[in-house]
Amino acid sequence: MRCSLHWLTLVLLLIAGCAPSSNPSAPTATEPAAPPKNALQVVFLDIGQGDSALVVFPNGKTMLIDGGETDQGRRLVQKLQQRGVKQIDWLVATHPHSDHIGGLIQVLKSLPVGEVWDIAMPYESPVYRDFLLAVRSAKTPDGKRPAFRKVRRGLALEPAPNVRLSVLAPREPLLSGTRSDPNNNSIVLRIDAPGGSFLFTGDIEREGRRRLYEVRANLRADVLKVSHHGAANGTDRAFLNRVNPRVAVISVGANNRYGHPHRETLALLQDRRVYRTDWHGDIVMQLGADKKLQVVTERHAPAQLREAQQPAKPTLTGAVIGNRNSKVYHTPDCGQLPKPENQKRFRSAQEAEKAGYRPHACVEGE
Ligand SMILES: [Zn+2]
Ligand SMILES: [Zn+2]
Repeated sequence: MRCSLHWLTLVLLLIAGCAPSSNPSAPTATEPAAPPKNALQVVFLDIGQGDSALVVFPNGKTMLIDGGETDQGRRLVQKLQQRGVKQIDWLVATHPHSDHIGGLIQVLKSLPVGEVWDIAMPYESPVYRDFLLAVRSAKTPDGKRPAFRKVRRGLALEPAPNVRLSVLAPREPLLSGTRSDPNNNSIVLRIDAPGGSFLFTGDIEREGRRRLYEVRANLRADVLKVSHHGAANGTDRAFLNRVNPRVAVISVGANNRYGHPHRETLALLQDRRVYRTDWHGDIVMQLGADKKLQVVTERHAPAQLREAQQPAKPTLTGAVIGNRNSKVYHTPDCGQLPKPENQKRFRSAQEAEKAGYRPHACVEGE
């Protein structure tokens, strides 16, 4: 095989039941090629600063959600071909920013595409213009023009038996006057399969999140693609509580000029298992017949980097709950809270530490 990727990490997460940390499996050095039949595979592709996720459904159909910057296009097509992808059935542009649609231009030129999903909001940029031109000259597997679908909340499909895909946002009228309307109007979609669920949030910010709450969208998911490359405006505690993901993925370029992911976001995620494309490379998640989520990463996160970027402790914001007996304190959403009669509430982690309490694993992360 041409490809020289080294697949170093294999982690099995039991979606139903235990916490992820209790189920690490032995590492493997085999590189996954095409996913096994009847498995759902989601690959968060490392394309530098931007987003790109390939979904391969159990029946072999494919969805590509975003494609990074234009200069990543060839690399993206190569990665897809190395994975045995011969066509994209649904090509999704979550919003018209260049770090999401740029690389899709080369994909549209190189592979047959069944349908293009776009929010179709008025947006002027050379990259978006090139994207629309590429859509116009793209071809479906049978040589026709791909359907261009203006995507809104309510769109749902069953791309494979027992797999449901639902669009949660945007909805009419699109948001306007926010810090970034393209970000806030991103396509937000969820995939539910036997054994697990994925939530893709594009780059939504505060206003986009609020809109999801207004319609009581089903946000709970096992895997969260963290919004806006881990920017502070992409995530807050209320949103994380609603999604309550076991695994979070940050799609981000190393040493990017925006400082993504932000420290505030990392602090909020410190009691979750986090994967980052700048550290782990391509991140492959697979749900097979055993209904376990298997995660394979291209490389290990460098230990020095992990420590250097670990937020200083205690960074937890908000109240914590102490155990009067063990003098250990927990996050309020920790799965191992002490009995109510032993609980002591502190306004902050700092206050708990001053009182001689030390953090539980749910505070420190893994
Ligand atoms: Zn954006
Ligand atoms: Zn972005």
